[in-house]
Amino acid sequence: MRGTVQGVGFRPFVHRLASSLELSGQVGNDSRGVWCEVQGPTTVLDEFIVRLTTDAPPLAVIAGTTQTVVPLLEESGFSIAISQGSPEGIIAIPPDVATCEACLAEVSDPDNRRSGYAFTCCTDCGPRFTVVTGLPYDRQSTSMSEFVLCAACQAEYQDPQDRRFHAQATCCPDCGPTLQLSFLNDGVRPADASGDPLTDAVRALAAGAIVAVKGLGGYQLVCRADDAQTVQRLRDRKHRPDKPFALLVESVAEAREIVELDELAERALSGAEAPIVLAPSIPGERTAPPVAPGTGLLGVMLSSTPLHAALVEGVGVPLVCTSGNRSTEPIAIDDATARSVLSDIADAVLSHNRSIERRADDSVGQVVSERFQLVRRARGYAPRAVKLMSGGAPVLAVGAELKNTICLAIDDRASQSVHLGDLENPATMIAFEAAIADQLAMAGVTPTLLVHDQHPEYLSTKFALTQDIAPTLAVQHHHAHLVSCLVDNQHAGKAIGVTFDGLGWGPDGTAWGGEFLVGDADGYDRAAHLKPVTLPGGAAAIRNPWRMAVSHLRSALGEVPDLSSLAEHQTSVASVVALCASDTSMQTTSIGRLFDAVAALCGATEPVTYEGQAAIGLEHLARQFGASVSPYEWKVGEAERLVIDPTPLISEIVADLNRNVEVAAIARRFHLSVAELIVDVCSRLRERSGLSTVALTGGVFQNRLLVELTVPALRDAGFVELRHSQVPPNDGGISLGQVAIGRAYVRSH
Ligand code: ZN
Ligand code: ZN
Ligand code: FE
Repeated sequence: MRGTVQGVGFRPFVHRLASSLELSGQVGNDSRGVWCEVQGPTTVLDEFIVRLTTDAPPLAVIAGTTQTVVPLLEESGFSIAISQGSPEGIIAIPPDVATCEACLAEVSDPDNRRSGYAFTCCTDCGPRFTVVTGLPYDRQSTSMSEFVLCAACQAEYQDPQDRRFHAQATCCPDCGPTLQLSFLNDGVRPADASGDPLTDAVRALAAGAIVAVKGLGGYQLVCRADDAQTVQRLRDRKHRPDKPFALLVESVAEAREIVELDELAERALSGAEAPIVLAPSIPGERTAPPVAPGTGLLGVMLSSTPLHAALVEGVGVPLVCTSGNRSTEPIAIDDATARSVLSDIADAVLSHNRSIERRADDSVGQVVSERFQLVRRARGYAPRAVKLMSGGAPVLAVGAELKNTICLAIDDRASQSVHLGDLENPATMIAFEAAIADQLAMAGVTPTLLVHDQHPEYLSTKFALTQDIAPTLAVQHHHAHLVSCLVDNQHAGKAIGVTFDGLGWGPDGTAWGGEFLVGDADGYDRAAHLKPVTLPGGAAAIRNPWRMAVSHLRSALGEVPDLSSLAEHQTSVASVVALCASDTSMQTTSIGRLFDAVAALCGATEPVTYEGQAAIGLEHLARQFGASVSPYEWKVGEAERLVIDPTPLISEIVADLNRNVEVAAIARRFHLSVAELIVDVCSRLRERSGLSTVALTGGVFQNRLLVELTVPALRDAGFVELRHSQVPPNDGGISLGQVAIGRAYVRSH
């Protein structure tokens, strides 16, 4: 059996099943997955084989099975074979699993020997990916190896009828890791310290302390969410002025008081992956305004460990729970780094003596138009493989520059790393190189091809071009987005790819980002795109949405009218206009930058402090306008390659502004216009190509309102839409598209 069959209680399950059917034989882990050898009457064997799949443990994902007849062996009874020490590939490691109901019940039972114990876990739950030091996945290849099982735990571990039979990370207060709490400098402390680390951490949090907590995949910064001053203090110290913080809540019921959840969102929230779920916020006193300013959304998650459960239950209010790092740095995993980095942020550190072997941020997702979509794929999901449509040679892809992930394809499985972050940060770059070395070492393969983005300045590209792992292949950014979406949906054949994002390098020397690409892993045709405008000042234009407003106004109207939304930048407008007139300025077809421009026209004139901030604000604004609106017009060219000119749209927005139309109405009209544009252009491309499948991909499709408007309109027009679910639509999904394109390249060369 192949797939996610190790570390999920599969061998104990086979043992129980075979024993109940009175079959003799053995089961074990090997380099491909789980093998078993059984003897018994044919009819019973048939039942055994069927039930291997139908009764499999909840966390197992069986990717395939093979059977052969072997010579009769002398044996009595059924046993679990000792694992052989061969390397077997990172793809075989299961993700971490949030604490199960049974373990939570034990922890909260005062009479249980694991009462209040922060590291309680069993075969159905607990750490995997973040504690593995090598393969095969057994206790001695985890950071639990130094904790020798006590007699009671050993007995459970050896009893096939016990929930902890072969649970590799099992332990108890007598034999497992222990917590330590240390207060830093002159930070906030509880008035009444008890000496027990967990109790005192709860008291400190309740008193308004910021506590750095050693979680599953890294340190987190935790504080009470209902106290505006405490949350603001965390923002100031972390140098993260605006980007929303996630909240740790006690239960689904508590989450419902803070955010609007539908059934799908509740299921995601309470899933074994325990991701942060973004959902529309419900204003109230349980969360202070600085938690998530200006987005209308809040991220909530349930506890992934008994430690988190004890903290949130103990304090009794939702807790801010955010990555333990300075903004843009990777999350700290080792105790020394955590201390040095987090000592200027936290008042106390709640640590423990089990090492974190692999970094894994909390994952983030949202329900968009009846589908749960990941925005950041890390703890709980990685390194679960995505199925490719065919097998082939090992291919490694190094992803994009922002929201970087890497991806390794072995056979028909593509295993993406956790979200690594933005490579421009030197510490993230170190983590990126370490992730590549780790993934190759764990898989024990040498890739035949190394795929990178076409952007020559991406640090991932520079890495690829200077390594000696394998020959390289450059892949266009939006082509990778398109193919990522096709693979995510197991779609064979071509599709119309609506690839909308911030920026990606185009082979014509412009920065792409508003592209309609028709193609598949074998290639693409750039069938339509936005009319290029200047990106005035490069990075400065990305940080300052008002610069994009100036660029679009000048492009559409030939001049920049006096608008109140640009008033505060009046003195700088002339220099930006000059940049727009210069031949040396970068041109862009990005629709993400058009969202920025419209956001600025609607009043978002401050510099942004995180990617997508202006567009998120514009979506929030649009949602505040309930009445129905009509779309603005676009001018779509007639040439072989359709060029989409937003001139009519920009002129109408200016007219609306001059008539003092509510900016919320303008924002709403703009969203509707983009949805209508997608349907219009796809209809034209369907006439030419005969294709009626549309892949919606790129960071812009994290915009819930846009997707909610686009999907029904596409369906009404007879299209089938493909959207992301296993990997994010943003640049975190790029590496999956890259490996699939790499595979196609290897096949045809
Ligand atoms: Zn459990
Ligand atoms: Zn024990
Ligand atoms: Fe992108």
